[in-house]
Amino acid sequence: MPMTRRAFIETYGCQMNIGDSELMAGALARRGYMTVDDPALADVIVINTCAIREHAETRVLGRIGQLQAHRRDRPDLILAVTGCMAQRLGDSLLDRTDGVDIVAGPDSYRALGAMIDDMRFGSVPRGQTLLALDATEAYEGLEAVRREGVTAWITVQRGCDHRCTFCIVPYVRGPEKNREPEAVLREVRAAVAAGFTEISLLGQTVNSYRSGEWDFARLLEAVAQVEGVKRVRFTSPHPNDVTDEMIRVIADQPAICRQLHLPAQSGSDAVLKRMVRRYSSRQFLNTVDRVRAGVPEIALSTDIIVGFPGESEEDFDATLDLLRRVRFDDAFLYRYSPREGTPATRLPADHFVDERTSGRRLEEAIAAHRAIQREINEAAVGSEREVLVERPARSDGDVLGRTEEGKVVAFPGLAEWENTYRTVRLTSTSGPTFRGVIAS
Ligand code: SF4
Repeated sequence: MPMTRRAFIETYGCQMNIGDSELMAGALARRGYMTVDDPALADVIVINTCAIREHAETRVLGRIGQLQAHRRDRPDLILAVTGCMAQRLGDSLLDRTDGVDIVAGPDSYRALGAMIDDMRFGSVPRGQTLLALDATEAYEGLEAVRREGVTAWITVQRGCDHRCTFCIVPYVRGPEKNREPEAVLREVRAAVAAGFTEISLLGQTVNSYRSGEWDFARLLEAVAQVEGVKRVRFTSPHPNDVTDEMIRVIADQPAICRQLHLPAQSGSDAVLKRMVRRYSSRQFLNTVDRVRAGVPEIALSTDIIVGFPGESEEDFDATLDLLRRVRFDDAFLYRYSPREGTPATRLPADHFVDERTSGRRLEEAIAAHRAIQREINEAAVGSEREVLVERPARSDGDVLGRTEEGKVVAFPGLAEWENTYRTVRLTSTSGPTFRGVIAS
């Protein structure tokens, strides 16, 4: 179909949402919509949202208000809100905000293009919702349109079968659905043919992937062996599904990056139990030991929530202890944020940690992690790393890229180096990131 219409898609939240926006771009391309970078040029604006924290939703509500300005010049503009926040708020999003025309949840993207067209051409009124969760929708056969970046994000699993008590995901994305391995491998080969050499496999608990005889280790190995694939990453694994076979595959396949994200969430067994994470801190540490025994050079990252209901000073100390024992290369640290509809919001009122305490704990945890991260990264200064160049840096004449371990390096380079690999000597670190020079 000729590309005569224009869509602007703005993405919030996790990598899964980047992948979903690329799927929506694919669904809209089938109807003749090319994606554009400027909302002022668009016939359709799609805001693909996140519901994981209240702050993310507040930002989106503000952005919806701002984008209304484009209606002055284009009264026929359609504004669709998609993703987890759309699913969570549903009809109430239409009542709460002026100017939202379509609210579509994560299982409704196939129908989005038709709904937009029906609305643009007047056969349905504005103010529609597409919110049915579909236990079979894995978007097979819908080709993603990747427009930017050096990574092909490929979703292998949607939804989640866990019920961590702080998390909204199972309620807005439904139960776990895994794609056929052949479909995943076809998509990997197509991404390589389109020039991508870094593949990132996505799933809510990606390593619980199973399809017939295929488990995650087998899928990971097959993806790493596709000709032309130079780097494979995956996110987010669940600590309980780190099998010995998965560790062996990471060790054996040079294309699989020496980087593993292992969300711990807390170091206290009592808190882990209330979170229903289904492991103890000892089991988590045992998983870390197994991973490091198999792949000693691996860089580990994690997610931590502080101030979860019922978290005592001793519980928080156990989290600090976990951070100090594991010494993560990177950690995403958050203060607990209640999400309406999740089980944790129903814990007794006197369990809730006051903001001052949770704020202080967050600062302490960040300081502990940063000190460790600085030590790890200072030890790497002077070494050489292969860096995949992602884009020009803000500083003139520099480019930004990532090492295999996922560490960000800025170094003097040319914009046309984007999507190429350069050997870089790390010359200094700011703590979390590096500066470097091309190795001679
Ligand atoms: S494993 Fe837990 S935290 Fe992760 S998506 Fe599922 S419910 Fe949420």
